[in-house]
Amino acid sequence: MRYEEEENLREEERRRYEERRRQRRKRLRRRRRIKIALIISVPVLAVILVSGIVHWVRGRMEEEPVMAYDVKYIAEAPDYQVELLDYNEYSRPGTALPTVKGIVVHYTANPGTTAEQNRNYFNGLKESGETYASSHFVIGMQGEIVQCIPCNEIAYASNERNEDTISIECCIPDETGKFTDETYQSLVALTTWLMGRYELGTDDVIRHYDVTGKACPKYYVEHEQEWLAFKEDLLSYIDANGIAKNEEIQ
Ligand SMILES: [Zn+2]
Repeated sequence: MRYEEEENLREEERRRYEERRRQRRKRLRRRRRIKIALIISVPVLAVILVSGIVHWVRGRMEEEPVMAYDVKYIAEAPDYQVELLDYNEYSRPGTALPTVKGIVVHYTANPGTTAEQNRNYFNGLKESGETYASSHFVIGMQGEIVQCIPCNEIAYASNERNEDTISIECCIPDETGKFTDETYQSLVALTTWLMGRYELGTDDVIRHYDVTGKACPKYYVEHEQEWLAFKEDLLSYIDANGIAKNEEIQ
């Protein structure tokens, strides 16, 4: 009997011992599983976090130049007189200008003449027929602006770019071909307004020279720096006087 009791006790102890071992193994297995889960998930979470940050920073960087440059535009046109030419084959053929991809700056090559005189010269070509010539706008030495051709029709000013550009002729006081300050100010105001109207950048503002190699506008072909300064002045003017695209126009 005692012997059996002893046996039973030993047997009981052995079972408890086995039970404890099983529990320990179970705990170890659970710990190992947690460890593996951590080893896998921490780098995955880190990658997700880093790529999220990179994505956000990239988005911000792409937004910046748009904010700084594209959004502003000149909403109001400068004052100008509309004195359209009569329809005629030499200066106003009435051909449609469906899209405007550039603005071409010219000089009249005729010192001392006014905007009105140049406009009348273009209109007189219907009788004289001496050449094919015209311009959408002419800017005089006092800064006055005369429109000769509507912006949805072509003018005869810029050779192969007649079909996708607006032309601006500038009057000059002397042979240097330099514009007066008044002409220059009106040119900046007119050009920037047209840039906004047709969604053009300063690269789309060109000289007649850039189309054909002709020395027009003379002063700004001979003085490249002055031409580049003009482009800078366009940007400064838009920055100072432009409104954001999403702003309501009053
Ligand atoms: Zn020209």
